[in-house]
Amino acid sequence: MSKFVGAHVSVSGGVDNAPLNAMAIGAKAFALFTKNQRQWVAKPLESKTIDAFHKNLETSGILPKHILPHDSYLINLGHPEVEKLEKSREAFIDELERCRVLGLDRLNFHPGSHLVKIAKKDPDYIDKLMKAELDCLDVIAESMNRAIDATKDSNVKLVIENTAGQGSNLGYKFEHLAHIIDKIEDKSRVGVCIDTCHMFTAGYDIRTRETYDKTWNSFDSIVGNQYLMGMHINDSKPKLGSRVDRHHSLGQGEIGWDAFKFIMNDARMDDIPLVLETIDESIWAEEIKELYALIEN
Ligand SMILES: [Zn+2]
Ligand SMILES: [Zn+2]
Repeated sequence: MSKFVGAHVSVSGGVDNAPLNAMAIGAKAFALFTKNQRQWVAKPLESKTIDAFHKNLETSGILPKHILPHDSYLINLGHPEVEKLEKSREAFIDELERCRVLGLDRLNFHPGSHLVKIAKKDPDYIDKLMKAELDCLDVIAESMNRAIDATKDSNVKLVIENTAGQGSNLGYKFEHLAHIIDKIEDKSRVGVCIDTCHMFTAGYDIRTRETYDKTWNSFDSIVGNQYLMGMHINDSKPKLGSRVDRHHSLGQGEIGWDAFKFIMNDARMDDIPLVLETIDESIWAEEIKELYALIEN
């Protein structure tokens, strides 16, 4: 078995509950928040929580490399205002530290947003937008370099997630991911997480064998397959290229089952966490089973 499928499970009652929640739905991988994702600060993880996490992880049989922690939604590593950028950078370093003490080796995050408003009727709209995006990508890379520097004793990888490109969120083009990675000094500390819903609504089709191959070939040539360290497996409510981030249950959205079948039979997705963030958690166990049933051979 080389595919490790799971879901973003609840940590209600403590992060140590996550492995058991994953086990209960038949998961071989999972994602979690290591703190309340809607608050800036959290008290450090207590040693009894860390011990319980490890004990439960052992019970579940899930390996640290198949766990993909997600950072707080408040963090924007590309924030245009100094104070808020500093706050984000500090919180991000704390998130990396929380992963390290839990024995985890990767942290998934959305790259950031430039928050610049440019009137569409502005004659220089395209130029101004391009500049805002490029500047923001540089700020994100700088935030990452600083975080890597601040956690030199750590092997936690910074796993950039592709986005749908809603609002001013960056990371919706493979070129954005490549631009950031290019500026990271220690490339051994960086990875990428591809969310199928985001990929699709950002304009990358994966619904047929032909479009799936085209999209992943372009990912390999622009970013590089070696950086793929996790995936979010979601169907999409909005249409191809809509730039809207709305997940759907597998097979019920615009993407459909074929794409998930291609993924489950694609060696590029071996041995990395494949995590459901679909909207109906009551069917996660079923979705996990259905994904495994897609494996041919
Ligand atoms: Zn995602
Ligand atoms: Zn999403």
